[in-house]
Parts: sequence; C-alpha cells; structure tokens
Amino acid sequence: MPAARDSHTTTDTVIVGAGPIGLELAVSLKHLGVDYIHLEAGNIAHTVSWYPKRTRYFSSPARIAIAGVPLITDNGEKATREQYLAYLRGVVEQFDLDVCCYEPVQQLERQTNDRFLLTTPRGSYDASHVVLAIGDMHAPRRLDIPGEDLPHVSHYFDEPHQYFRQKLLIVGGKNSAVEAALRCHHAGADVTISYRGRRFDPKSVKYWLLPEIEALIEHKQIHFIPESEVESITEERVCLRVGDKPFCPPADFVLLMTGYVQDPTLFRMAGVTLHGENHAPLVDERTMMTDVPNFFVAGTAAAGTQHKFRLFIENCHPHVRKIVRAITGQTPPAELVNTAAETFGLAES
Ligand SMILES: Cc1cc2nc3c(=O)[nH]c(=O)nc-3n(C[C@H](O)[C@H](O)[C@H](O)COP(=O)(O)OP(=O)(O)OC[C@H]3O[C@@H](n4cnc5c(N)ncnc54)[C@H](O)[C@@H]3O)c2cc1C
Repeated sequence: MPAARDSHTTTDTVIVGAGPIGLELAVSLKHLGVDYIHLEAGNIAHTVSWYPKRTRYFSSPARIAIAGVPLITDNGEKATREQYLAYLRGVVEQFDLDVCCYEPVQQLERQTNDRFLLTTPRGSYDASHVVLAIGDMHAPRRLDIPGEDLPHVSHYFDEPHQYFRQKLLIVGGKNSAVEAALRCHHAGADVTISYRGRRFDPKSVKYWLLPEIEALIEHKQIHFIPESEVESITEERVCLRVGDKPFCPPADFVLLMTGYVQDPTLFRMAGVTLHGENHAPLVDERTMMTDVPNFFVAGTAAAGTQHKFRLFIENCHPHVRKIVRAITGQTPPAELVNTAAETFGLAES
C-alpha cells in the first residue's frame, strides 16, 4: 500500500472508481485535455478482480470492450475474468492513464462555493466536477443469521479446488450460485443448493448453465432444497426452514451466493437524493448529472443496489458520452466510446 501523504490538489474533475466505465471516461477526458484526477480504492478493475477465477463473461467481447480498443479472445469466445483484467491493464498502458490506485475516497463534501472537496488517506482534492463510477457491489448482501461469520462460511467464491471431496452447501439460485455449484461439483465436491425459490429463473441463470444444473439435480448428482431459507449455521451443519419444518444438513463449507449491495455513503455525503427500491441516485439520464449540480454518476453505480440487474458494462458506455458533453460541451470522438448499447439496442431496461 503506497505511503500516506498529506497533499492538497485543485483540479477540474475527479473520477472516483477505475472499473471499465471509469477507465473509458478517463480516456475521453484525457483526449479532450481536461484537467482531471482519477482515484481508485484498489487497483484498476477491482470489482472484476474479485470475481471467481476463470469466470466467463456472458457479454460478447465487443460489448465490454472500452475506448475503441478491441477485446480479442482466441476463437472469438466470451472473455474470462483473467483475459478482461489483462485487457484493461493494456488499455491503461495504451493511453498511459494516470490512475491513483489504493486511494479510497473516504470523505466528500460540497463546499459553499459549489466545488467539491474529496479526502483520501493520501490527500485532499478540490474539484468543480465529480464523477462517481464506483460500481454497485461494495459488500455482500448479508443474511444476518447466527454463524454467518464462521471461518468456513463465505460470500465470495474463488475457485473450486478447496471443496474437493467436501460437503459444500451453496445458498442462492441465481447465476453465481449455479456457476459455483457446477464448477465445485465437477471438481469433486458434494454439493447441496438451498434456494428459497421453487425452481431456477431462466432470466437469472446463463442459458448455457441451466440445462446442466437441472439434469444434475434430476439425477441426484447435486442435492437441491427448494423453498428453503437459512436460519443459522454451525461448525457442522446449516439449519434451514423448509416450509414450516426445520432441516439441518451437514456442511464442511458454506457459500452464501446472495448478491452484493452498493455503499451509498459518498452519494449521501454529496447530498444526492437516493430513490426507489434500489436506493439509486436521482439522475438526469440526458447528462448523468445527479440532482446535485456538477455531481455525476457513471456505470452501474447509477443503479444503486440491483435486485434485478438493469445496468451492466455493456449498456453503460453511453454514460461516458453524456458526461463528457455535460462537462466539456464537446462530444468525445466516436471511436473512443463503445457504441454496443446503441448498435444492439441495449437500452437500460
Ligand atoms: C461474476 C460476475 C460476472 C459479470 N458478468 C458481466 C457480463 O458478462 N457483462 C456485463 O456487462 N457485466 C457483467 N458483470 C457486471 C460487471 O462487473 C459490472 O457491471 C462492472 O464491473 C461495472 O463496471 P463499473 O465500471 O460501473 O463499476 P466497477 O467495475 O464496479 O468499478 C467500480 C470501481 O470503483 C472503485 N471504488 C468503489 N468505491 C470507491 C471509493 N470510495 N474510492 C475509490 N474507488 C472506489 C472500486 O474499487 C472499483 O474498482 C458481472 C459481474 C459479476 C460479479
């Protein structure tokens, strides 16, 4: 972790967050000569970096490419997490983007002169425009049940090897739960899935995974406990409620694939109105400016905490063009912003 320092910098624009959309925005601002600072809590694409290893994107490479740089995968397949991370590192190198990594914004204040003061462990920044491109997955959606923090319980799936010949109970019924179940089953884990639904929703599971998981369940290769809720977890067992009956199967490991929530703190500090079930920032979709003047949101951060996924990389590229126009009055060169959303009509649903 870089050493703390106590600097103060004045700039025109601060971008917070160097995920795919924050990076695409930086390329355009740099191209137009805007004086900007780019702050990132981890290294670039931190969210992508904690995906399970070798996760394969459901979007085609063309839809998640940024800044006009083609994402080429061998035989045109969907990219993996590792390929996309390498690709994003390449984009940063190609445009020599200056990203201040390991510099989380912890304080944000709108000053009386309508400028913004942002504070990190390494310094403070005074800016007239701020863009929050902080994403929407900052912490796991907790179940708040006894045993949730035991060492054999996790909200993050990394890779399957550690579950070889272990009893693994996975909680969840969407893509991440199904993908973890299949990969761990094929790695020799004894997998049980607890899901509060009766059956998996085809809209929430990648189409190429559903037939396989349903066949494995039908042939009792994977145990499936539908309409079940987790009540507590002990060192040896997971106590479920199935209908009105308790059922406590044994488990050596537990994966709680229950999704993630957005941390709205920076929006609240700026005075942005959060609305709806997702607590999404109130935004003018023509400019991506929030209801606080010169305070913008880009990428999935605009969706708040997503229950039903609405925003992805592939339909957030237009945010870049809107924000650059609002800040500079200029339109970024067409080749610098991915047009997949327009081309494929991937409007925000
Ligand atoms: C397993 C998995 C598979 C997915 N597959 C796809 C897919 O196929 N197609 C698709 O379009 N989307 C997919 N997504 C969703 C995709 O990850 C997100 O849509 C994407 O990461 C959003 O990009 P972003 O730039 O908006 O935000 P993020 O990538 O989340 O980047 C936000 C950045 O902001 C930083 N940050 C947060 N808070 C602060 C702070 N206070 N100070 C400084 N920095 C901060 C974070 O560290 C992070 O690097 C998938 C997600 C998961 C988990």
